[in-house]
Amino acid sequence: MLELRNYIDGELVAPVGGTYLDNIEPATGKVYGRIPDSDEADVALAVAAAKKAFTSWSQTSIQERSAVMVRIADLIQARLEALARAESIDNGKPLSLARRVDIPRGSANFRYFAHAITQFHSEAYDMGPTGFNYTLRRPIGVVGCISPWNLPLYLFTWKIAPALAAGNTVVAKPSEVTPVTAYLLSEICIEAGLPPGVLNIVHGLGGKAGAAMVSHPEVKAISFTGGTSTGKIISKVAAPMFKKLSLELGGKNPNLVFADCDYEQALSTSIRSSFANQGQICLCGSRIYVERSIYDRFVKDFTERVAAMKVGDPLEEGTDMGAIVSRDQYEKDLAYIALAQEEGGKIETGGVPAEAPNERCAEGYFLRPTVITGLPPTCRTNQEEIFGPVVTLWPFDTEEEAIAYANGTQYGLSSTIHTTHLQRAHRVAAALEAGIVWINSWLVRDLRTPFGGVKASGVGREGGFEALHFFTEAKNVFVAH
Ligand code: NDP
Repeated sequence: MLELRNYIDGELVAPVGGTYLDNIEPATGKVYGRIPDSDEADVALAVAAAKKAFTSWSQTSIQERSAVMVRIADLIQARLEALARAESIDNGKPLSLARRVDIPRGSANFRYFAHAITQFHSEAYDMGPTGFNYTLRRPIGVVGCISPWNLPLYLFTWKIAPALAAGNTVVAKPSEVTPVTAYLLSEICIEAGLPPGVLNIVHGLGGKAGAAMVSHPEVKAISFTGGTSTGKIISKVAAPMFKKLSLELGGKNPNLVFADCDYEQALSTSIRSSFANQGQICLCGSRIYVERSIYDRFVKDFTERVAAMKVGDPLEEGTDMGAIVSRDQYEKDLAYIALAQEEGGKIETGGVPAEAPNERCAEGYFLRPTVITGLPPTCRTNQEEIFGPVVTLWPFDTEEEAIAYANGTQYGLSSTIHTTHLQRAHRVAAALEAGIVWINSWLVRDLRTPFGGVKASGVGREGGFEALHFFTEAKNVFVAH
């Protein structure tokens, strides 16, 4: 059985308390590994190691820091198949998706920030005869990175890479639900020659190991991705300690389909944005609003194609949708489907557990992709984040109405617009309350751009120089002439 270790001060070590949690494979429902159930003592060791390593890492030349990060990126790429398999088993996502998206993007995160730091610069302000100001940007110290289960390696590296590039040392916790790729990353860091203590990975529960990181006085900044309610708990602890905070939280993303769209493109992109990774991407569109003149046709075509999707063993080629990540999430999805029916929703397809694809997966957590109509934008199903393969469709009559529906939740992470009308595309993009707007596309990523949500979807921006700004403190120096 696979037994994970924490990565502290350059070594793979057992948890101080000696206790472990079960790791369950969602496609089989069976325990296949053990995870350190770390606590304050492990976090204290990790923070001490990070603190000790900070002086030397923050003074290591940018070229050297960059070189070791490029080696990590190369090793992730070289281990693509093993990492993709580990992620598929851990998470339930199709192996093909992990191979095509998650793992290459994990490697790209390290490579991008390894290069970005060599281009990072600070500003100077000339005050004429008085003098001038310049801005020094220096690493913060020990920082904490906490990530969720849905894109395990991809989101973990998205936080760690800019923190390390900027010269910080890191204590990081992956989700206890999907810890294996983080463990494999620790092996890669050792092989790549990352100095001891620069990155420390502590496995365990959020309420225990995660909470100990957030409240540790030596952890000066927290970069967190996860649910909005967890973000509130973390803020309550970290804000009075004046820690820097970046919170990437939940969403309930709208997908607006106008009658003047490229119909085929809108249809196929909407299917992907609804059900990729079993609907468990924070950027998935879960509320589809369609202009009334094409609504009936769109519902029919969308439903037919979704009904034909193959829910299968994540490890088999040809699987469109794998297993739901955990029994808890599976039950949550089913509870929301029941709620949707109580609220008067009509299940067009799905709404039920999927048949087990084979004997191996007999006890796995499989759901049919679910399409629901007849629910107004204000009902709970359309207001609360489900984070599963469940989408609703509802018609709109005017552009104003579409914008009002889209903006009518507490969330503001991402949104999608399908239209070929140039002015409309830009007008609606500007009016949407969301950190990210995709026009006639979805999930296209440019690592230089700011990434994050508004309203209850978070504060702070990741990506590009925004991330390097977050992971540095700016100091202004005035020089008199
Ligand atoms: P959670 O908020 O439950 O957990 C996220 C991470 O926080 C996990 O590592 C968790 O550990 C840890 N954690 C939980 N409680 C605490 C605490 N009190 N102190 C410190 N850490 C804690 O989210 P999920 O893992 O369930 O992920 C799904 C959520 O993430 C969805 O809401 C989704 O929208 C959001 N998300 C947002 C993204 C964005 O970019 N905005 C991207 C991806 C997901 P453990 O797992 O052990 O509980």
